[in-house]
Amino acid sequence: MPSKKALATLSPEEIDERFMIEAIRLAEENLKTNEGGPVGAVIVLDGKIIGKSANESFLTSDPTAHAEMQAIRKACRKLKTLDLSGTIIYTNCEPCPMCLGAIYWAKIEKIYYAASKEDTYAIGFDDKVIFWEFNKPDDKKEIPRVQIIKAKALPALQKWKEIGESRINAFEAGSRRAKV
Ligand SMILES: [Zn+2]
Repeated sequence: MPSKKALATLSPEEIDERFMIEAIRLAEENLKTNEGGPVGAVIVLDGKIIGKSANESFLTSDPTAHAEMQAIRKACRKLKTLDLSGTIIYTNCEPCPMCLGAIYWAKIEKIYYAASKEDTYAIGFDDKVIFWEFNKPDDKKEIPRVQIIKAKALPALQKWKEIGESRINAFEAGSRRAKV
């Protein structure tokens, strides 16, 4: 990637392209190292990369180690925060439902993608099955979903309702972002 000074001479569109090219480079590099699928993701805050990764599912024996998930994990660990507000994610493929969920949990503000869902379906990615699942009634879902002993689960939730906000605030107060 060019230096921040060099980036300053580029148009906003050119800067977005540079970050996307870095995501594509990570994906292509992964084909050589065989650490996972051909996906790369870059997370940017104030024009600076704070987390990037290729898919690491083979490397980590982890079906959740998609590029976007790993980039989020790295960015959050680096800044010791759960809150990536103000950041942008660049990914060479349109995110799957899991990664989209993580992007929302992390409060990332904007997603740039290159290849679309249709492009990834064409090479055999099957996350459309998960999108379809969301729209089916519970008794028609591929993985059965059964609710049991709800009452026993509620005390922990009630406790979190009382203490959760202060726990989150204490955690975020210790983050590197809070100190900037
Ligand atoms: Zn994904």
